[in-house]
Amino acid sequence: MRRLGQSYLDMVTNVIAPPKPNGLTSAPNDQAPSLSLCTRLVNCAKDAIILQDLQSRILWMNSAAETMFGWRLEDVRGLPGVSVTADTNLPTKFHYDLQSPIFDRFVVGRHKRRDGSEFWNQQTFAKVEPIHEDQNMMILVSCRDISEQVQTETALRQTQEELQHAAYHDDLTGLANRKKLQGYLETPLVRDALKKQQIGVLQLDLDKFKEINDSFGHAAGDGTLIHVAEALRRSSGPQDLACRSGGDEFVLICPKVASIEALVTRAELLLKEVGKPLRCQDHILYIKGSIGASLASPEVTCGEELIHQADQALYAAKENGRAQTVVFTPELGRVQTTKTRLAREIQTATTEGQFTVELQPQMRLEDDKVTSCEALLRWEHPEYGQLFPVEFLDIARRSGVLADLDYHSMNLSLDALNKIRQAGHETLTLAINASAEVMADSNYTGLLDWALQSRGLTPEDVCIEIQESAILHPENYEITTTVDKLRRLGARVALDDFGTGYAGFAHLSFIDLDAIKLDRAMIARLGKDTRTQDIVKALVNLAHQLGMTVIAEGVESQEQLDLLRAADCPNIQGFGLAHPMPVADFLIWLDTPAEQQPFQAQQIKSPKAPHL
Ligand code: GH3
Ligand code: MG
Repeated sequence: MRRLGQSYLDMVTNVIAPPKPNGLTSAPNDQAPSLSLCTRLVNCAKDAIILQDLQSRILWMNSAAETMFGWRLEDVRGLPGVSVTADTNLPTKFHYDLQSPIFDRFVVGRHKRRDGSEFWNQQTFAKVEPIHEDQNMMILVSCRDISEQVQTETALRQTQEELQHAAYHDDLTGLANRKKLQGYLETPLVRDALKKQQIGVLQLDLDKFKEINDSFGHAAGDGTLIHVAEALRRSSGPQDLACRSGGDEFVLICPKVASIEALVTRAELLLKEVGKPLRCQDHILYIKGSIGASLASPEVTCGEELIHQADQALYAAKENGRAQTVVFTPELGRVQTTKTRLAREIQTATTEGQFTVELQPQMRLEDDKVTSCEALLRWEHPEYGQLFPVEFLDIARRSGVLADLDYHSMNLSLDALNKIRQAGHETLTLAINASAEVMADSNYTGLLDWALQSRGLTPEDVCIEIQESAILHPENYEITTTVDKLRRLGARVALDDFGTGYAGFAHLSFIDLDAIKLDRAMIARLGKDTRTQDIVKALVNLAHQLGMTVIAEGVESQEQLDLLRAADCPNIQGFGLAHPMPVADFLIWLDTPAEQQPFQAQQIKSPKAPHL
């Protein structure tokens, strides 16, 4: 029988290099000059090299193998390879299959050293053909510790996964982002659900979220968004996708929802979850949101379209007063599409001269004399015809062009007053509407003054009518400053739509005004309930005590006129006297005394129906 070591190493020597006579019985670490060149070379190798028989018994190993595994050759010679590598995947009784693919590739495994520490071992297996007939085939196993590469690769893969996750998820809430949403809409699940009309979309936007940021800071705002994301997770089914699509806007896609009722139930559940108390600093917040909902229909061919419909419904939910769910309908879509179109066109409509003003007279009841008129803006739309402020002011506000539109309206109004003056009406004054947006512009008074002077008009010729929203927040310093500046200039300032909104006399104590205009809704109730008559009387009295005059808006009937006279209301305006009319018609109307008799020759026409 051959002696293990000497004979086998001779064999290795035969394989790698010409045989040398000085064979070895072990693989000592010293590089004694007596060792064969082959043995010295193999011992210099950084890779561990192990020679095994076909049963994987260790015949020989180099110094690097001893270092790598912590075993000395003497300790493991003749033992199966698994006793060195502690490879749990291999049985103790192992026999090499010479057809195995391990001979053609790297094999990576988690192995153990003698001290129990683990490392990643990259192995290659080579067949060592026998030289002599009486010799057996052997297997040369080379091992390399690749733990560092594996660690680097694992870290790299983790980073890649994180980057991939970040690309498809929102940083703050961890919800899916728009990119992920787009991909999801293309999935067979969504396509199939669209075909079967079994999918709904909820688009949620928080109400007055900016106020949370403003009152409690950005971090509290972020906390709120996380709270909402959790509410969305709780309200989602396993196949749903909850997504933060932007700022305070979220989308929930619900495949398997097949009826409006089911969709609305989901929406209500979501609003309920969102509204659960949220502790913020020393306060408890109850978050509110508006939802636009849309359900698949035969007309909807893709997910994006469904989201667009939900978006339109969301707009309507905001317009209707927030904190509610609105479901998309084709009619709603038509109205919103028109509004979107108007928002696009309003910017150019001013330069293209599509805006005009109409004038509506105001009468002093003391002597039934027309002393003033209000300029009312009209949009002569090339396709939709004449549009009223109610149809486009909000669109202008949302498009950020309301102040520009107000300046345009101011110039058109003053041109109209100029014509009135040129027609010989020296004392008639003009009421001009001004939004909170334009009142917040510190240049407004100066620009008005310049516009008046350039037409030879004076500030006393005009009364600026401001909306109640402009005075609701007295801390809104810019607006109260503008009111003061206007009054110091000599113009008068009136508060529009007083009595039915939020402004009360308490608000009037913060700001000096010249007049209040009683809202048409209050006047409409005058003939129907005596309580309103008492309120109007009291308002006229109080206004008088505060040094303000009163104009009753929307006066349409003789009965209302009589009641207003009885309440000592000093001025009226309304269809009962005259509808708003183009400037040329107004001048004719002024010159026709019979026309000015309130409620005598007047035909009460009903107001035109709004387009939207
Ligand atoms: P509305 O009821 O009309 O929706 O009014 P809103 O105050 O909620 O305002 P809107 O939805 O138009 O604007 C959302 C605001 O959310 C704008 C921005 O200041 C704020 N916002 C957007 N992204 C973040 C964010 O990541 N963190 C915080 N804290 N605020 C954000
Ligand atoms: Mg919002």
